[in-house]
Amino acid sequence: MTTPIQQLDVLWITAGLGCDGDTISITAATQPSLEDLVLGAIPGIPKVNFHNPVLAFETGDDFIGRFHGAAGGQGPPFILVIEGSIPNEQNKQEGYWAGFGTDRQTGQPILTCDWIDRLAGEAWAVVAAGTCAAYGGIHAMQGNPTGCMSLADYLGWKWKSKAGIPIVNVPGCPVLPDNFMEVLLYLLYQAAGLAPSIPLDQALRPKWLFGQTVHEGCDRGGYYEQGDFAEQYGAPQCIVKLGCWGPVVNCNVGKRGWINGIGGCPNVGGICIGCTMPAFPDKFMPFMNQPPGSLLSSHAVSTYGRAIKALRNFTQNSLNQEPERRRPTRRLDDTG
Ligand code: SF4
Ligand code: SF4
Ligand code: SF4
Repeated sequence: MTTPIQQLDVLWITAGLGCDGDTISITAATQPSLEDLVLGAIPGIPKVNFHNPVLAFETGDDFIGRFHGAAGGQGPPFILVIEGSIPNEQNKQEGYWAGFGTDRQTGQPILTCDWIDRLAGEAWAVVAAGTCAAYGGIHAMQGNPTGCMSLADYLGWKWKSKAGIPIVNVPGCPVLPDNFMEVLLYLLYQAAGLAPSIPLDQALRPKWLFGQTVHEGCDRGGYYEQGDFAEQYGAPQCIVKLGCWGPVVNCNVGKRGWINGIGGCPNVGGICIGCTMPAFPDKFMPFMNQPPGSLLSSHAVSTYGRAIKALRNFTQNSLNQEPERRRPTRRLDDTG
């Protein structure tokens, strides 16, 4: 067993090709919250220093100094978090696609790819926050000029940190707040020597979060089973005919909700567009069409489901009436 880590930095680079949406998303987390983590409210984990350019108080050299130090092997161990997809800086004659901070000598931007090259080998663990970093996401869709890719495509899918930890992908566009913070907390417990190595699936997602489909945890699952499908937005029934991909998408938002257990795409009427999946967005487009596979399954479910619903209605009507013996009619008749 390795020596437990007492203090650990989180170095978060938001300068992949992205929108900072994952950083904003985690500010809504509650299990645990970011504040819980950085203020030391959770027992047993290392002391955490959090460095994210969107959330930091420091700016300029005061902020970027810790990144330079980490690249030079100075300071406490760190978890490197990458947000946004990784551009291909080799596919053009001039210019650059993405940079983060400036070089102290030249004053020129430092490429995001150079930061990854400098920091990944020094990191205790590397985490991809959001689908852009995990799988390329929106920016890597067909026709994009940047040639951008996932962190695993850039470093290699079999890449491991110096602590022997594979890249940890926490997809979602944006990432579900509590999913990200729970993964970070898991890694912190692992760093403290209190948790085994994080279990990941073949797409490098934490297994316990992405082992089920949206459909398996959806509030509207009962409607699906009874073949009761919405024909327009705003209806409470299953929205598969409006384009929901939930039956084949690995995501726990149906069960977990979005913030504090509330919300979550299909629960509140939004079709699942598969944003946690490696094939997103190309294989899920056009978004508003009914998924091809669901045409067959929803047709089959319609026949079976309507018969089941008719039988249930019959039973339900009976259960909505008090047992005959409880009715006051006889007593009233007796005293009358
Ligand atoms: Fe923005 Fe979505 Fe990419 Fe995150 S995954 S950076 S939210 S586009
Ligand atoms: Fe499944 Fe989507 Fe229907 Fe929910 S809305 S039951 S996830 S198909
Ligand atoms: Fe993304 Fe679908 Fe999960 Fe919503 S339910 S977060 S669209 S994978």
